Amino acid sequence: MSSRASELESPKASGDADRDGRDLEAGLASPVAGRFGIPVDAVCVRCGRTHVKRASLEEMDQSPEANSVTLEATDCTSFKHVCYPCEGATWWNPVAVLSGLLESERERGE
Ligand SMILES: [Zn+2]
Repeated sequence: MSSRASELESPKASGDADRDGRDLEAGLASPVAGRFGIPVDAVCVRCGRTHVKRASLEEMDQSPEANSVTLEATDCTSFKHVCYPCEGATWWNPVAVLSGLLESERERGE
């Protein structure tokens, strides 16, 4: 039950049926995602939109030494991030740690 691949196809994201059609990599490249931290799929608590965001481990109440690749979204706390449709900073609930994006990013970066 700890397969990290399962996070990407988590049935928790109900009402988000278009999730598979989303280009997560493009979402992460967008300035809206932020520039620092690990890639997570998160839902804005105010408008309910799902977007790829970057959040630091500390923001999600994780140790800076935590292994972000094996991190479970359910272990992460909400974090504050700007939401453009809401026109300001709101709270975001992580729904999935995008460890696949994280790994491909590392491969490119080193
Ligand atoms: Zn919002």
